[in-house]
Amino acid sequence: MYNTPMTNEAEQEQTGLLGEVRISVLLPLPLAGPLDYLAPFPPPKPGSFVEVPLSGRKRIGVIWETGKKEMRGKILPLEKLKPIHSVIDVPPLTTVLRRFVDWVAGYNMASQGAVLRMILNTPEALGPPPVTIKYKKGMLEPDRMTAARSRVLDVLADGRAWHIKGLAKAAGVSDSVIRGLIKSGAVEGLEVPADAAYPAPDPFREGPVLTAEQKEAAAVLCKYVDQGGYQTILLEGVTGSGKTEVYFEAVARALRKPGAQVLVLLPEIALTTQWLERFKERFGVPPVEWHSGLRKSERRRAWRAALDGQARVVVGARSALFLPFPGLELIIADEEHDVSFKQEEGVLYHARDMAVVRASQTGIPLILASATPSLESLINCQRERYRHVRMKDRYGGARLPEIIAVDMRRDPLPAGSWLSPELAGAITQTLEAGHQTLLFLNRRGYAPLTLCRACGERLECPNCTAWLVEHRYQGRLMCHHCGYGMRIPDHCPECESEDSLTACGPGVERLAEEVKNRFPAARLRVMASDQMTTPAKAAAAIADIESGRVDIVIGTQIITKGYHFPNLTLVGIIDADLGLKGGDLRAIERTYQQLIQVSGRAGRAKHPGRVLIQTYFPDHPVMAAMISGDQDRFMQAEAEAREAASLPPYGKLVALILSSRNQPNLQEAGRMLGHKAPQSDGLLILGPAPAPLSQIRGRFRARFLIKTGANLSPQKLVRKWLKTVSLPSDVRVKIDIDPYSFL
Ligand code: ADP
Ligand code: ZN
Ligand code: ZN
Repeated sequence: MYNTPMTNEAEQEQTGLLGEVRISVLLPLPLAGPLDYLAPFPPPKPGSFVEVPLSGRKRIGVIWETGKKEMRGKILPLEKLKPIHSVIDVPPLTTVLRRFVDWVAGYNMASQGAVLRMILNTPEALGPPPVTIKYKKGMLEPDRMTAARSRVLDVLADGRAWHIKGLAKAAGVSDSVIRGLIKSGAVEGLEVPADAAYPAPDPFREGPVLTAEQKEAAAVLCKYVDQGGYQTILLEGVTGSGKTEVYFEAVARALRKPGAQVLVLLPEIALTTQWLERFKERFGVPPVEWHSGLRKSERRRAWRAALDGQARVVVGARSALFLPFPGLELIIADEEHDVSFKQEEGVLYHARDMAVVRASQTGIPLILASATPSLESLINCQRERYRHVRMKDRYGGARLPEIIAVDMRRDPLPAGSWLSPELAGAITQTLEAGHQTLLFLNRRGYAPLTLCRACGERLECPNCTAWLVEHRYQGRLMCHHCGYGMRIPDHCPECESEDSLTACGPGVERLAEEVKNRFPAARLRVMASDQMTTPAKAAAAIADIESGRVDIVIGTQIITKGYHFPNLTLVGIIDADLGLKGGDLRAIERTYQQLIQVSGRAGRAKHPGRVLIQTYFPDHPVMAAMISGDQDRFMQAEAEAREAASLPPYGKLVALILSSRNQPNLQEAGRMLGHKAPQSDGLLILGPAPAPLSQIRGRFRARFLIKTGANLSPQKLVRKWLKTVSLPSDVRVKIDIDPYSFL
């Protein structure tokens, strides 16, 4: 056997005298790649969770197969390696999930460790599940009997185990009576898991009777679920067509497979009480929730249940895509067009796009649902990469609302007023009919700008290139970019004139003031993130609207999504032009989607709805498409415009955002990178240019935009480019693949 040629380094090392082998461990830290450690032979399986030493601390990592050379750290000789501390006794991370981490890291140009951190963000879930002690009847007789003691034993007679407090209460005794019984062996404690198991949803429970159109759509989804294998299906259905009920059929079908897990991704999970209720109605139990609002113990429990396979259906915000499901059989991304699927901090990624990758690597179907699909998804349908399933009718004979543009050029509003006579008239009629109105204005606070009438000073954030927004309910001026805030001053900070500060433009609070003055009897509710600070507050507000305790809702975009208020018949859009102003490549598409979504809240049940759109551009393609209802034509025109400009999805974009507290260093970094910018066919590099938000949180910012043809890999190019320069150490570079924000 000594003659056997050694085929590779690993085998050589396995025969080492120590009986220990080299393994690579990926740690959830932004390091270059996995690090090598020693493990006893035979080594634990790849994917195992292990504890290892790093800089004098114990860290939890995952055994990773050595990746590509460039992803590896320095290769140390065997004798320099430290042994692992221990292997954690939980199921290993599946191969599919490990490849997913590698892929997400490579595509989004993040380190594998930073991506692993998105999976391993709840390390306490790897510990033993917490236990609690319950008491039952013991083997021995009590040393003496009293009336109190005998009551305790009576309660325990049926063999059930109790917590001490509950037992004491049920028997009407004090804790010390029970302790006495424990001491004498007449009552004994046993350790039981502290967390009750999540009840399993019942996939055989009967759902609602589907309409012919819904049945047809559900059949397609179920076919893909039954046959298994990767396929993305775009479920496009007008608002109120019953998309949720339809994809619930696919969920039910998936759950019939043994051990199957289903993931439903929703934007802004905190506001989905209605969705949760509907799930419960359909499957008998609530789903497992995953979002930032969970308490620590809930997170631990949900994460572990995902890993153990016990969580059958998880509904969550984008981060739920990184839960360690071993048995995933179906992913659904509802409101797939929603830009909040794009994560703008830490590892930058688009959860919908990464869901496509996870589904295809896992070999399972993915359903994207929306009334207003993204252009990206529509083009993928045209190219036959995705299946397109459509529903054109609202459920239950409800008609889509009538949409009317109110031309604001004709009669301009009086100063300080935001309701046109038409809209005010419609509100009056709606109130008289006993129906509800939703007024949509996507601006938090009272006024977006405060101006000094004496000197013209505009109050700006000291840390950002941004105006301070007045929040009158709180009596503060606030920056929406960095959270800076100050009391509303009584004189101009520049010229010191008193009473010269004026609010300019409306926010929801200011609109509420006008509505209150004009409709004093109406019950009003403002819904913006400032009011809906907890899921409970949001749930209470939704319940108030549902039960008719509110006549007029004034809301930002948080009220546009998914809600079903049967008695809501009027939607007023205060400033339809607001979204068009930013001017980024998706501004038109996004404005249209948002306006259609908010319009879709009107007339969803027996009473017909109408939507009044206040606009200075009634002929704009967005308004024209809303009025005509011809979404296909609108999106086709959008597609043509993007294609002509080689913008996504016809070309690729990457943004490089440089930032520094030191402006000369930032300029120097921009100059160096600009100087080394690669040049080739099908490649265009724009910049460096000051970012529109040229300062955030005290950091100056500059941007490059890299534009390539759809068949090039901009990642490779950017990687090479960045290696050619060594930037001042205080300059941070953020790489944004497929950017959605251009600020
Ligand atoms: P969408 O998500 O397409 O806007 P929803 O799934 O919210 O539509 O459905 C709109 C309303 O119609 C909901 O209250 C839903 O429960 C109800 N609904 C849809 N389809 C059915 C059905 N087949 N039977 C009973 N109710 C339905
Ligand atoms: Zn700021
Ligand atoms: Zn002034």
